[in-house]
Amino acid sequence: MKNKKYIRKKAKVYTAESLIEGIKSGNFTALSKAITLCESKKPSDRDMASTIVSACMQIENNSIRIGITGVPGVGKSSFIESFGLHLIQAEGKKVAVLAIDPSSERTKGSILGDKTRMNKLSIHPNAFIRPSPTSGSLGGVAHASRESILLCEAAGFDVVIVETVGVGQSETEVRQMTDFFLLLMLAGAGDELQGIKRGIMEMADGLLINKADGDNLKAAQLAMREYRNALHLFPKAKSGWTTQVGLCSALENTNMDVAWNMISAYEKHSKSNGYFLTNRKDQLDSWFQKSIEEILHQKLFENEKIKADYHFFSNKVISGSLSPYDAAKQLLDGFL
Ligand code: GDP
Repeated sequence: MKNKKYIRKKAKVYTAESLIEGIKSGNFTALSKAITLCESKKPSDRDMASTIVSACMQIENNSIRIGITGVPGVGKSSFIESFGLHLIQAEGKKVAVLAIDPSSERTKGSILGDKTRMNKLSIHPNAFIRPSPTSGSLGGVAHASRESILLCEAAGFDVVIVETVGVGQSETEVRQMTDFFLLLMLAGAGDELQGIKRGIMEMADGLLINKADGDNLKAAQLAMREYRNALHLFPKAKSGWTTQVGLCSALENTNMDVAWNMISAYEKHSKSNGYFLTNRKDQLDSWFQKSIEEILHQKLFENEKIKADYHFFSNKVISGSLSPYDAAKQLLDGFL
């Protein structure tokens, strides 16, 4: 008699159709599997991912996409844990959390990837948490994240939180795929406006000063007033919305309702003036443009002649005998 221990289960075969059905019925395994396809580098996975994403795009939903950023240590994971649980328990929402780290291609995975994050939220049946992809997908990390958002919405998640994990570029990327952009900040020692790039503050629809607890509460209140004053000097946003400033403590779980009220007020405002929909359409259009660039870039460097000519022109550029622009033009003339 065969020992049961050695009988290997046949790996389950998923088809695009079975995954679409699974996602529609809110099955987490199907959702995870489909996101993995979106993140894959294999062209055959990519084809399957495209079929699934196209089908999921047709499914009606009423979601809100929230981007969250802030310097490492500001309390993003702690905030998402408290806020996510608040949304589920007090607002009856289903919450998906995606992390995006465009730098992961270089660092080979997020530094925070191994950290135990969002313990309570991650085991809640109404929450789905997906860490950032460990390497660049075919079409880029941001592309995979955009697709993952659509899949989560098709699976019935009405709040999709996208957290920036990487530094630098990721804020802009996340801004371009969400409806509301929330910046978490810390109260500094007198020089509150230091250390945070002005550009990031200009992108924010909401600003929350976290760790407003204990001895830090007074400094946080002061910082809130200073930010409110500083924001008056900023140009008016296209949405017509004035950036709101509030306080919270992810640790003590305070003001999670303030955070949600801010986002709900924005949603109401931007839906009533039409900006919500216009912004989503603009985001789709910019995704389309980025996809053209990605595909062109990929096809270009798959081309044998380009691969060979690249080094020839690169050497000319480095040695100073050809300008980078002229070299690029001559290289591409051979392709186009
Ligand atoms: P992230 O790097 O932005 O994701 O930040 P974490 O959520 O990992 O938090 C960094 C540190 O700040 C941890 O030690 C948290 O316990 C602590 N922390 C987070 N939120 C609060 C808060 O509201 N108050 C206080 N006092 N500490 C906090």
